[in-house]
Amino acid sequence: MKILIIDDEPFVLKVLQHQLSSLTDAEVVPCDSARAALAELAVDAAQIFLIFCDLQMPEMDGIEFVRQLVALHYDKALVLVSGEDIRTLETAERLALAHKLQFLGAIQKPATREQLQQMLERAVTCCVPTPLRAAPKTYGAEDLRHAIAAGHLENYYQPKVELATGRVIGVETLVRWRHPDDGLVFPDQFITLAEEHGLINDLTRVVLTAALVQTRHWLDAGLDLKVAVNASMDNFSDVEFPDFIARTAEMAGVPLTSLILEITESRLMKDPLSALDIIIRLRLKRIKLSIDDFGTGNSSMTQLRDLPFDELKVDRGFVHGACRNDALRAIFEASLSMARQLGMKTVAEGPEDREDWDFLKASGCDLAQGYFIAKPMPASEVLGWIAAWEPRRQELM
Ligand code: C2E
Ligand code: CA
Ligand code: CA
Repeated sequence: MKILIIDDEPFVLKVLQHQLSSLTDAEVVPCDSARAALAELAVDAAQIFLIFCDLQMPEMDGIEFVRQLVALHYDKALVLVSGEDIRTLETAERLALAHKLQFLGAIQKPATREQLQQMLERAVTCCVPTPLRAAPKTYGAEDLRHAIAAGHLENYYQPKVELATGRVIGVETLVRWRHPDDGLVFPDQFITLAEEHGLINDLTRVVLTAALVQTRHWLDAGLDLKVAVNASMDNFSDVEFPDFIARTAEMAGVPLTSLILEITESRLMKDPLSALDIIIRLRLKRIKLSIDDFGTGNSSMTQLRDLPFDELKVDRGFVHGACRNDALRAIFEASLSMARQLGMKTVAEGPEDREDWDFLKASGCDLAQGYFIAKPMPASEVLGWIAAWEPRRQELM
């Protein structure tokens, strides 16, 4: 089964393809023009059950494409995607409905994961059985509260290496929930839940404490690693947060300069003034701050302007494949240049292959963290991984 996606902007196409591929096992076929999509339909109409089409395109626009679909008696699902304003979208929506297509709706760019998921589900009910991946299980706040209290959260660590030397200089802490029935549950399935139910402070404290204790164990084994911990914006309304960190680090015997807090603004700051207050106090304690997922809607230049970050992590959407894509490369390089001018260290998230690695090495970026180097792993595997990395490191230098 196939899904066609049509957009004249390569970057949008790539992001959409990536998003959809993570939601379905159907083949996602990118088309950079309506004409290319019509060519696909000419050879393989029976396989195509869903089309995502941009409205605004040079040559043949989305509206004309819809007319062509009607002429072809296309009877599967259609979604319009557009950067146009809501009014224009609504008008296009009325037109598509009037054509009696299996019109699922219009979504405004950039499409969210939830919107795409919803469209896929609608396509299934209205058209064909599609190989949709089982929806991830959802958990309740009480389950999570229990998991935090019962010690069911477990930290995984992903290495960060210096591009110039290949040296492992630190790790990022990524929390997992070791669920008694469901196995390993990933943070995408419970961080928002924690934020929405006031559990994120407890969660962060548990993760941070374990990360600092682990850092001490590594120090004792002769390994001096900087440890990064993800913080939610909600942690910055907890006035006790800086003192909690200082106390915990002291108890663990780890200098505060070894700690980096990674921040994304996934939710609006409830109280910007108290967040600023807390962030300044973290700075005064010499705890490093990193702006995470830079380049996405949640992590922007406004934050760079307002907050004193030490490190900038370029989102993996701009890293993997940047060597082959002009737009990605331009955004990646501009982010590095901005970071440098602001005196910040740069980290590239998500290099997945040798091409990404070579590109990053040549780019002058400071650090890299991604599957090409290592996937996140339990603490017990880190020492063994570092030993195995050494020959690879030499080969890559
Ligand atoms: P993040 O902070 O952006 O973390 C990086 C995510 O990208 C991790 O997913 C990691 O496994 C994945 N990743 C790393 N390298 C690659 C790569 O080369 N390719 C691809 N495709 N992915 C890569 P993970 O562990 O599922 O975490 C997801 C998100 O959950 C994290 O994104 C972070 O925002 C959040 N998170 C994790 N732990 C915590 C925590 O303790 N507290 C809070 N507030 N958020 C957390
Ligand atoms: Ca992070
Ligand atoms: Ca990130």
